[in-house]
Amino acid sequence: IEKTVDAVVIGSGGAGMSAGAEISEAGYSVLVLEKMPIIGGNTIVAASAMNAADPERQHQQEMNPNLIETIEKLIELEPQHELMEEWQKEIAEDLKEYNINGETYLYDSPALHKLQTYVDGDYVGDPELINVFGDKALESIHWLEEHGAKFVDSITSAVGATWERSHTPTQDLGSAGASFVLPQQEIIESNGGEILLEHKAEEFILDGDSERVIGVKGTTSEGTLFEIYGEKGVVLATGGFAANPEMREKYNTFWAEAGESVETTNPVSSQGDGIVMAEKIDAGLTGMEWIQMVTWSDQAITAAIENTIQVNQDGERFVREDGRRDEICQAILEQDGGYMYRIYDATTIEDELDGISYKGVPITEYVGKGAYMNDTLEGLAEDMGVPFEALQKTINEYNGYVENGGDPLGRTLFGAKIERGPFYAVKYAPRFHHTMGGVMINSRAQALDTEGEVIPGLYAAGEVTGGIHGSNRLGGNAITDIITFGRIAGQSLVEDGSGN
Ligand code: ADP
Repeated sequence: IEKTVDAVVIGSGGAGMSAGAEISEAGYSVLVLEKMPIIGGNTIVAASAMNAADPERQHQQEMNPNLIETIEKLIELEPQHELMEEWQKEIAEDLKEYNINGETYLYDSPALHKLQTYVDGDYVGDPELINVFGDKALESIHWLEEHGAKFVDSITSAVGATWERSHTPTQDLGSAGASFVLPQQEIIESNGGEILLEHKAEEFILDGDSERVIGVKGTTSEGTLFEIYGEKGVVLATGGFAANPEMREKYNTFWAEAGESVETTNPVSSQGDGIVMAEKIDAGLTGMEWIQMVTWSDQAITAAIENTIQVNQDGERFVREDGRRDEICQAILEQDGGYMYRIYDATTIEDELDGISYKGVPITEYVGKGAYMNDTLEGLAEDMGVPFEALQKTINEYNGYVENGGDPLGRTLFGAKIERGPFYAVKYAPRFHHTMGGVMINSRAQALDTEGEVIPGLYAAGEVTGGIHGSNRLGGNAITDIITFGRIAGQSLVEDGSGN
């Protein structure tokens, strides 16, 4: 098969679909190649929240006054980059107003989002990319909303988000993750773009003289070879490599010891194909050693982290619940059995979640399969095989911190107390979840070579790229990244293609 279109997009996750949508809306012909029999990749499976500073929603919520201290600490850190200093100054200015006017709403701003992304990624992320990421985050949410995605009004903190700025999609499009790919599918198809399933890209086609990327070669699931030419360019959006044990082992230094027995949350499609393809044409890679684990269970419940506690088999808390994902996972691996439970009460499960897990399944269906539910705490402890007195003590102490702060583990985000039955417990263990590293890009989502020079004709976006999340990605930041840079990749391709 041989075909020529204006633009080829490789991968139909949130990044590829966003690029494809932008390209097709600009009137270019676009072809999205997807190796699997379904679209959506890891995005549609794993996605549950998207971060952005969003005054319209956040100003409806109260902020715990203690959190001002968290912000003050962040803006007093030694700046590691001139942009970091700018973000800090911006926040300090904002905060003056906030204090003068005695506001109580939940404070946030693009600058705070950027600062936390950079600081909690241990200053390894690229501040220029983070700057664009933070500036466009809310626009990305609005863009999805304009095209059919819906988000619940209440803003929470996803696991490892470290701030209440996570937007949870409703189940209206079938699942939470569907909200991050189906709106774009509609745009692509209504503009005459095409999505080819079971088409696996294997190699870039270069223009002999100019080294420009002009297309891609690959094989269909039936073994037919194809060559697709993109006259205006190619977008690489093949996702990460969390489901590829060899590649994980090759690059992973951080989790080297935990490594082998740990499973992944990703579908089998996350093999790092695009990284290998890009490497062959001398693309630069960055941050490949940074691999993220997240707390996971097949019974996963998308509840706000501020409304739960995490306990081990002794019924004791062992790490702050609102910390970074690497901190939490490291601490769990140090507990007996390498797992933990999250404890919820009826306020969270019934009022907040309406009794539904993020997969659209009633939570009661999970009871007995890694989740527990009981009208009393004593009954719950018995179900879990955890000493009741210890669990009761832990919860009493936690309820005290909700009111007065002072958690010795350093937690600062507090929502509801745990006090109203039925009570729920869900067992969680760490799993490989996200690969922070990948192909180097600039802020126009142009792929860069090992010297940092633009590779003509090639754009890249999403988990296949590196440089935004540094050593540790904030929960809820991946979706913002893939939608934002997916759109930018598409827009840049169109701009360059039109000679602008
Ligand atoms: P992102 O979040 O960056 O969009 P996802 O993992 O959600 O990444 O999506 C990446 C998509 O790319 C998946 O649907 C995956 O099946 C697809 N993909 C990965 N490798 C290839 C390949 N070689 N050819 C075509 N599609 C691919």
